[in-house]
Amino acid sequence: MRTRVAIIGAGPAGLLLAHLLHQFGIESVVVEQHTRDHVAGRVRAGVLETVTVDLLARIGLDERLRKEGLVHTGTNISCDDETFRIDFADLTGGASVVVYGQSEVMADLNAAADSRGLDIRYGCDDVALHELDSDHPKVTFTRLGETERIDCDFVAGCDGYHGVSRASIPSHALQTFEKVYPFGWLGVLADVPPAADELIYASHDRGFALASMRSLTRSRYYIQCSLADRLEDWSDARFWDELTLRLGVHAGARVIRGPSFEKSIAPLRSFVAEPMRWGRLFLAGDAAHIVPPTGAKGLNLAATDVIMLAEALAEVILEGRTSGVDHYSARALARVWKAERFSWWFTKLTHRFPETSGIDRRLQAAELDYIRSSRAAQTVLAENYVGLPLTP
Ligand SMILES: Cc1cc2nc3c(=O)[nH]c(=O)nc-3n(C[C@H](O)[C@H](O)[C@H](O)COP(=O)(O)OP(=O)(O)OC[C@H]3O[C@@H](n4cnc5c(N)ncnc54)[C@H](O)[C@@H]3O)c2cc1C
Repeated sequence: MRTRVAIIGAGPAGLLLAHLLHQFGIESVVVEQHTRDHVAGRVRAGVLETVTVDLLARIGLDERLRKEGLVHTGTNISCDDETFRIDFADLTGGASVVVYGQSEVMADLNAAADSRGLDIRYGCDDVALHELDSDHPKVTFTRLGETERIDCDFVAGCDGYHGVSRASIPSHALQTFEKVYPFGWLGVLADVPPAADELIYASHDRGFALASMRSLTRSRYYIQCSLADRLEDWSDARFWDELTLRLGVHAGARVIRGPSFEKSIAPLRSFVAEPMRWGRLFLAGDAAHIVPPTGAKGLNLAATDVIMLAEALAEVILEGRTSGVDHYSARALARVWKAERFSWWFTKLTHRFPETSGIDRRLQAAELDYIRSSRAAQTVLAENYVGLPLTP
């Protein structure tokens, strides 16, 4: 079969790109290895920057988000038992974030993909990319026992950290930068009202904790844990005890306990691959970069990559101008690195590292106290959290 753009991966990056290209009148085929239910059901991100909300509005998919998403004009930071608020709206001239789960975003993208007739092929095995450095790249895969081939003009690698796209770039053409953190996040989802109206990021002597949510009746909580921990080590009761301790006396007292219905341990990593283009292959989202989730940037970075990539592809396909695709990697990476820096900094500020000694903990506490008392420091945090503007 033939199409303009073959998109590898039907996660947020792949589906957002398919919708944006559709809006430009450009046809694409999305090739995904898992089933639709598997991809759509993964419990992941939940905080959307304005730029992501605007993208969903641009592709006509913000109706449910406007009704059900929770607008947060600030966030709370707690250090041991002291909590203070960062007022995004006041510090950034009215900016906010919206709490709306990645699984809800995926449900909206999938429903609209059906009604718009987007071509998404699930359950594709052995996906392979060919002749990426020629004018006629190809994608092959097997599905339902048949081998299929897509001839296309461009390939978008939206297949996440473990995908085949980045691995298809010869090693001499790719530079990677990586930091693996010596701890993980134990996350719990429970149908109980959240402990507070807005998120609470807690830096405690026993480690980091985050009180987050997906709705007014569904809470998402995380605590920093050892990578050696197993889920069996963490009964619900032990999790709630540790969480309430780390959130501090006041916030901890407001935690409503209940049975968890999802519990997982995620490792934390900072990773960037440069450049985000090789020949006619363009990487977007987690395929090119990973951030620790502390800054809530992963899904938002995928969305901003896709905006830049769709505009660049539209320019070359519809107008024959190559400047957009030529600058895509540099433009995307300029924003990616700033989000990497913020996510690393926020993680370093709020987590206990194994080597953290008395002086490190005092320095963390001093920096948090400085942020509490300085409008300038709060503005830096707020500006980065709500999301930096798209690079021109
Ligand atoms: C546990 C967890 C919690 C997170 N929490 C947050 C958060 O709070 N805030 C935030 O902003 N971000 C968070 N993230 C990150 C966020 O979920 C990702 O950044 C986002 O999903 C990136 O979207 P993507 O489309 O680039 O990649 P993915 O969502 O990884 O999608 C890639 C798709 O490609 C498919 N694929 C892979 N290999 C192949 C192949 N060979 N062939 C075909 N298809 C393939 C995969 O099945 C998948 O569907 C979290 C991530 C995890 C794992």
